[in-house]
Amino acid sequence: MSPAVLDESLTRVVGTRTANALEKLGLTTSGDLVRHYPRRYGRPGELSEIGQLRVGDHVTVVADVEQATVRPMRNRGGALLEAVVTDGRDRLRLTFFAKRAGALRPHEDRLRAGRRGLFTGTVGEYRGARQLTHPEYALIGADADEDEMLADAAKPIPIYPAGQGVPTWRIARAVRTVLDPLTAADAPDPIPDDVIAEHSLPSLLEALRLVHAPETDEDWQRGRERLRFEEAFVLQSALARRRAARAAMTSVARLGAVGASGADGGLVSALDARLPFALTDGQRAVGEAIASDLARPTPMMRLLQGDVGAGKTVVALRAMLQVVDSGGQAALLAPTEVLAAQHERTILSLLGPLAEAGMLGGSDVGTRVALLTGSLGAAARKKALLQAASGEAGIVVGTHALLTETVQFADLGLVVVDEQHRFGVEQRDALRVRGESPPHMLVMTATPIPRTVAMTVFGDLETSVLSERPAHRAETVTHVVPADNEAWMRRVWSRVREEVDAGRRVYVVCPRIDGDAGSTPSDAEAAGIDPLADAKPDVPLASVMETAEALRAEPSLAGVRVGVMHGRMTPDAKDAAMAAFASGETPVLVSTTVIEVGVDVREASTMVVLDAERFGISQLHQLRGRVGRGGMPGLCLLVTHAEAESVAQERLEALAETEDGFALAEKDVELRREGDVLGAAQSGGRNSLRLLRVVRDADVIAQARADAERVVAEDPELSGHPALAAAIDAWLGEEREEFLERG
Ligand code: ADP
Ligand code: MG
Repeated sequence: MSPAVLDESLTRVVGTRTANALEKLGLTTSGDLVRHYPRRYGRPGELSEIGQLRVGDHVTVVADVEQATVRPMRNRGGALLEAVVTDGRDRLRLTFFAKRAGALRPHEDRLRAGRRGLFTGTVGEYRGARQLTHPEYALIGADADEDEMLADAAKPIPIYPAGQGVPTWRIARAVRTVLDPLTAADAPDPIPDDVIAEHSLPSLLEALRLVHAPETDEDWQRGRERLRFEEAFVLQSALARRRAARAAMTSVARLGAVGASGADGGLVSALDARLPFALTDGQRAVGEAIASDLARPTPMMRLLQGDVGAGKTVVALRAMLQVVDSGGQAALLAPTEVLAAQHERTILSLLGPLAEAGMLGGSDVGTRVALLTGSLGAAARKKALLQAASGEAGIVVGTHALLTETVQFADLGLVVVDEQHRFGVEQRDALRVRGESPPHMLVMTATPIPRTVAMTVFGDLETSVLSERPAHRAETVTHVVPADNEAWMRRVWSRVREEVDAGRRVYVVCPRIDGDAGSTPSDAEAAGIDPLADAKPDVPLASVMETAEALRAEPSLAGVRVGVMHGRMTPDAKDAAMAAFASGETPVLVSTTVIEVGVDVREASTMVVLDAERFGISQLHQLRGRVGRGGMPGLCLLVTHAEAESVAQERLEALAETEDGFALAEKDVELRREGDVLGAAQSGGRNSLRLLRVVRDADVIAQARADAERVVAEDPELSGHPALAAAIDAWLGEEREEFLERG
């Protein structure tokens, strides 16, 4: 056989019927099938807990048959087979219908009392009892067909992510059909022999056998461990190759006005002289790192992380000016048109006359800034395109669409991408292909990226962090308040009163606008959190309207005026509400998360968040950032119905513990599903990370990274490692595909 065995279509291998069923699970080739790992392992010796089954779940249970009887149906005609299976404590009913009793006899024969089997179906309810209707089942040690997979009652039973109509044992049988005849040559191993030997890992073929046909629990654990390492290793090899390839590329070195040094009559020093503030140490340090990257003839690829307000814009602007000083151009890309326009305004005001080259009163070292977005009129667009193509505009500001459009630059030396943390390798490539000498690149994000995620997803980038905030901010103390505790709640409102009496302002944030359930999408949903996971269904969510009414009637707030704000108000009404709050006319503002970004009221000292468990960590972190801005300490009260020990409670406690955005981001990745954090391309792909979890497996990733570095350094083309090269291509191909799907 040849390596192409795993590329073979399943139709040829397992037949059309099974292949069609497997296709619904996204499995079309033999390779897809053997990479469809069991989700868990059942034990024939251990019964499922029937008491734990929930109505609506699609389940596979291991249980013993207690009885099975066929009887005619009185009202409808036809016949009914009712079987009862048990785990020794709870019972589950199995129901089969047929036109004639005879059709049910074979089931009755097989479902003999005392037999143990696997039963698959969707849990339903009939007269208060749980049941499976027409379940698929396999009896242990009874069916010749299934005997192969269930032969030895001591072996763990692989239980696969199955679908309606494809029970796990059918998948198991198909897997074995493919797997059993495979030879090592059919499954070339992407992990090089020396790495396998060094870590005493099973080969790919062995690992596949261990996970699909384990004899013991240790078997599948060892198999999974190796496959997990493989995922990390392939990914890290891809990233190592990118780093190596980049190191071999040449970009134009952008030295700035007079090399990388001091006062020089260039735009960078002209800007520094104009700035209304002194750069922080962090901004200087990051600025120097970027300046020396730009001055090198290899393309910079740097990720700059810094919380909102950390002052990334001015760092980016100085980098762009260094390139302009060197005779090149820079592009600044924002995620939305609104943000692009805002960037243009900010840059124009920071540059002042420096952005008016060739205009009356413009500086003679100056340049021009062009804005290029989809909503420009034809004339303005043409002008901007011309300015970019001629080189007249040193800085071109636009949305990410600038990447894919055929915008011509005279000499594009630097691309800055703002506020983008789901920036796939593929998009990074899109930039690199323009022109033979790729531009330098700076990616900026306000969402802190934990080290392990950075290593996994951005492993081909250098990273810098702006950790201090330029505007001095006082500490904000955060407490979690149980909503059920009346004494505490009274204290919350009396505390609000004290703040108001001291001349300060208080935000009260609610997850809903009015009591009308479903009137607004839950913010937690938007934040990728399953809102049902931790909610008490019987407690209605706090709404802006009802809460405002309640506070107006709250004895401890007597005489305090309460304002409201939410997304359904007109822009003018919102402005008015904000103004009344800022001036102190309504010192308490009940609001939705519309205040989350950009709102800056210096007197605001206190933030009360109701139903805080409904919000995500980063959202609460942003909300909390609204208070404590005026130099006085802030107070944040997270009021919650979350149960003790729940994930929601853990999220809130993490917030109470720290104000460090990075620590919170780590916690966030830990508590959320990976996909929410990494985006589809990096986590959920068909061929990519199935077993690897970026936070939990940090050690595996670090080890794989070291191994990958070495392998790629010794053989940059991977000509001695064709299987690894193929695995990398498959992974990149998938990213490309998903990028295209999203675009
Ligand atoms: P972000 O990192 O969120 O993009 P910005 O670049 O928008 O932050 O900066 C936030 C605010 O801080 C801006 O008003 C900016 O002018 C100001 N700022 C930036 N650097 C400093 C500094 N060194 N000292 C004082 N204010 C600064
Ligand atoms: Mg910004």
